[in-house]
Amino acid sequence: MNNKSIDFGTLAIHQLHTDGHHSHLAPIYASSTFTFDSAEQGMRRFSGEDSGYIYSRFGNPTTDATAQAIADLETWKILNEDGTPMRARALLTSSGQAAMATLFISCLNAGDALLATSSLYGGTHEFITKMLPKFGIKTYFSDMTDVTELEALLKANPEIKLVHFESPANPTMQCINIERVVQISKKYQKLVSVDNTFATPYLQQPFKYQVDFIFHSTTKFLNGHGSAIGGVLIGRDLNAMQTYVHQTHKLLGVNSNPFDAFLVLQGIKTLPLRMEQHCRNAMDVAYFLNNHPEIANVHYNGLPSHPDFEISKKQMRHAGSVMSIELKGGYEKSIDFVNKLQICTRAVSIGTVDTLVSHPASMSHAGIPREIRLKTGITDGLIRISVGLESIEDLIADLEQALQ
Ligand SMILES: *Cc1c(COP(=O)(O)O)cnc(C)c1O
Repeated sequence: MNNKSIDFGTLAIHQLHTDGHHSHLAPIYASSTFTFDSAEQGMRRFSGEDSGYIYSRFGNPTTDATAQAIADLETWKILNEDGTPMRARALLTSSGQAAMATLFISCLNAGDALLATSSLYGGTHEFITKMLPKFGIKTYFSDMTDVTELEALLKANPEIKLVHFESPANPTMQCINIERVVQISKKYQKLVSVDNTFATPYLQQPFKYQVDFIFHSTTKFLNGHGSAIGGVLIGRDLNAMQTYVHQTHKLLGVNSNPFDAFLVLQGIKTLPLRMEQHCRNAMDVAYFLNNHPEIANVHYNGLPSHPDFEISKKQMRHAGSVMSIELKGGYEKSIDFVNKLQICTRAVSIGTVDTLVSHPASMSHAGIPREIRLKTGITDGLIRISVGLESIEDLIADLEQALQ
């Protein structure tokens, strides 16, 4: 597909896949291994001379079709300096967590350091504080909204090799100025990676700003229906993606599987439509809650009162559909509110067609000491909402009755 001229919505639907039987949809290639016509052909596949498949942990037509579809969306309408369309390569992984681990293990060696924002997905934070030190890799944390501090850290610590952040990020929907962080990082020749899970390529394309790697938990908006755990790692350096990143993926054994890949590929076709409705509903919910007497705070980057409203508007098509709110009554009142919901689903995760509501202090973050939890913005009364595609009247009525 020539991604220079066609619209995002068309590209999301007309995904390329190769199949000798003219199958309309990408088939689910449920096969662990692939046959060779001769021993010589087997040799040529291993040497790379023949591009055919070998073994599904190394590559599989269904997982590759899904990976390529996501790479095409992340590079949509982006041009290289010489005017040619940008290309990227992607690897589908067993989870978002696996995409993150593959990236960090591929790029960092013992003695190297990572620089990350403190607003990170819980699993990412745990991985870099508990696993990376075992391999001799240290992490520096910076609030990347203060670029003077970011630059000082990069200057003082030449062992930093990779700069990583999320935007928007849990729980306050903090947004990072991608262009500015890349500019400063590139001045010191650092690699830059972004977790683009909350935004999806429909709302935000970090490759526009020359980041090196993007990863997603496809579990969320890309799948869209909550039917599979998965992830994807996309890189602009085609050679790196084909060599050492692919090698890490292969040796860790973090491949996705054809069935889950198929589900994500179907989900992607409605991504633009879903995101439009997700974001429209989220905006209405945010305004409703912001004006409600029982609500102390609404953290949503689509509200002009949010500290990152301007930067979010600059680099995102819409503000997204995840927000967190704080009730005036604190812990008790929040539990009561969550229990009274009749349409919204009580569950962790985000990005499904239905609205998901969770109470981090008593659920996902219950094991974290209160002082640390409070420092990361997860107050006792904080509730996270991933706004779904339900009729907005029904959603607001449900929230209203639960707040009474
Ligand atoms: C869910 C999530 C992850 C982890 O993805 P899994 O698919 O659960 O492994 C990483 N980053 C963000 C922002 C997420 O929301």
